Amino acid sequence: CGIVGYIGRRDATPVLIQGLKRLEYRGYDSFGIATVGSAIEVYKKTGRISDGESGAADLRGYAGIGHTRWATHGEPSDLNAHPHTDCSGRIAVVHNGVIENYGELKRQLAGRGHTFRSETDTEVIAHLIEEHYDGDLLAAVNATLPLLKGSYAVLVIAEDTQQIVAARDASPLVLGVGDGEVFAASDMTPLLEYTERVIFLEDGDVADLASGRCTIYHDGQTVERPIELINWCVE
Ligand code: GLU
Repeated sequence: CGIVGYIGRRDATPVLIQGLKRLEYRGYDSFGIATVGSAIEVYKKTGRISDGESGAADLRGYAGIGHTRWATHGEPSDLNAHPHTDCSGRIAVVHNGVIENYGELKRQLAGRGHTFRSETDTEVIAHLIEEHYDGDLLAAVNATLPLLKGSYAVLVIAEDTQQIVAARDASPLVLGVGDGEVFAASDMTPLLEYTERVIFLEDGDVADLASGRCTIYHDGQTVERPIELINWCVE
């Protein structure tokens, strides 16, 4: 029940692994990360990040997303762990929350030829983005979100795009703005060792994150959200 994302000058994997450890208190039955470098790579597993991090440590990329899961739809299993990918494996999604109309969406997507690998509500998001994706990830996410009923904080990456698209509705999501790098997480704990500059997204916000840039949209318009300075000590 926690998500973390990183894009910037560091190797993404250690940032994601450390971030997931910080978020584990929110719940864990499984964990996973996806990175994007020359391609999308995914590692996900039942259990806790502290026991399985060596498997994830080989993933490489300048950007990535991570998840610690507290299952609502689909038992805890390696396949049901996040991130979830589309049919092509070129889009990866992590999600906190519940997609209430996933059953109907899944039936429609299956009717249009999509094959599902998990029993989660989340996987429909990856397939819907795939249907709308023509190289513009932000547009594809914007076309998908109105189809979802329920609650979500999501982070999305795609092969060939140097960005993370983040969105929230009724689930928390915080951004951290560093020097040439941007972080996203369910709460501040994974961000504080890297930056004091934090932005709290609001319900309905969609953010386009890149190495030195973070653009926030609401109802299709760019919005300014205040950057708050958080000065906490982190062990
Ligand atoms: N509903 C999603 C699932 O069961 C997300 C659960 C969570 O927030 O950890 O996979």
